[in-house]
Amino acid sequence: MTESTAPARRRAPLHTRILIGLAVGAVAGVTSNLLWAGHPALDRVVDYVAQPVGQVFLRMLFMVVVPLVFTSLTLGVAGLGDLRRLGRVGGRTIAVFLATTTLAATIGLIASNVVQPGAAIDPAVRTALLAEFGGAAEERTAVGAGAFGINTFVNIVPRNPVDAAARGDMLGLIFFSLIFGIALTRIRKDAADAVIRVVDGIGQAVVVMIEFAMRLAPYGVAGLIFAVTARFGFDVLQSLGLYVVAVLAALTFHQFGVIGLLARVLTGIRPGVFFRRARTLMVTAFSTSSSNATLPTTIRTAEQGFGVPREIAGFVLPLGATMNMNGTALFEGMTVLFLAQAFGVDLSLGAQAVVVAMTVLTAIGTAGVPGGSIPLLAMVLVMVGIPAEGIALILGVDRLLDMARTVPNVTGDLLTSLVVARQEGVWTPEMATTAPLPEPTLETAA
Ligand code: ASP
Repeated sequence: MTESTAPARRRAPLHTRILIGLAVGAVAGVTSNLLWAGHPALDRVVDYVAQPVGQVFLRMLFMVVVPLVFTSLTLGVAGLGDLRRLGRVGGRTIAVFLATTTLAATIGLIASNVVQPGAAIDPAVRTALLAEFGGAAEERTAVGAGAFGINTFVNIVPRNPVDAAARGDMLGLIFFSLIFGIALTRIRKDAADAVIRVVDGIGQAVVVMIEFAMRLAPYGVAGLIFAVTARFGFDVLQSLGLYVVAVLAALTFHQFGVIGLLARVLTGIRPGVFFRRARTLMVTAFSTSSSNATLPTTIRTAEQGFGVPREIAGFVLPLGATMNMNGTALFEGMTVLFLAQAFGVDLSLGAQAVVVAMTVLTAIGTAGVPGGSIPLLAMVLVMVGIPAEGIALILGVDRLLDMARTVPNVTGDLLTSLVVARQEGVWTPEMATTAPLPEPTLETAA
């Protein structure tokens, strides 16, 4: 588009190109769905063009997650220096995670109580949805069966860190990296410095790899969105309209109202500046539906877009991608109540308080991958006496809700890193406005 011969060729900034990719993919996908849904040619375009392009982008991001989590946490912990500071930063991080997640879950419950989306569900529609998605629901919920117990905590300690990393067991990898970072503060300084220099070098190389991946972002995002919208069951959307609109509205309120206000009050950054600098982050979360895949962008945004010191960003954000899920908690709270209404299960105020607590716990336990919360949601349903097959009611629209809830999930992580950095006295709001925006530096040479 800008193939002019002028020497000072300027491309649109990355976030603008990603937004264009998002819009082009969405419009093309929705149009194709309306015109050619179910046509084999459309399936071929999805299978051989959109999916591969989207998947290459997604895989490039996933590819760097393991080395990124390891290097960020190790350097973050080693950079924090002593155990007392680590304990303080860790305590503050968990406190902000818990407070914002509880707030989000409560907003979800209040929204469902006010809007009553489940009461609007026609019993015939309910039966039809259960029949159509029942099989898929059973498959998805089986994964979560018996997932919570003492072993949930025991399993955080991996038998073998390489195995944990290979299986994508983030908590295991996080645990190993934390302990390794702590150990580095306990050995001879010259030996520790040698290791830190190597890990630092790997970390820097990983950052460059992320920049490569992000160059693909406009195309990858277009492919991912096209694949989802071209095959999306828009008729399901019709029958669940009120529920979907209510969830999206509540997520938007939390994202821009609550998180914007918290950014203003707790970090001193104006919401306008906060969200402008988080644009690439939000679009990446929306199109990948995955906090883990977005982690590279989250770290880059915090460090380059907001000037958060590396040891804080490197410590808070990998933990956040795994543990802090505002959007997921809100979605779970709303969905439990929606299904209770749809199945005529009356939940008392006490039962709803249990739902908030369970929602917060399961949001912490949710893996930061597409649809990660579904198996755990099934567990909460069973606990409060709602049939777990109820999940079948929402599966048809979950992809859309998943994209939307992942945005507050990662924005909440970014917010936490700013709050903790400020409390630690190593960051001021002025540092956000002077930090360079997170653009791939390699592009300047192009
Ligand atoms: N997709 C969400 C995330 O990665 C998790 C979920 O709610 O399913 O943040």
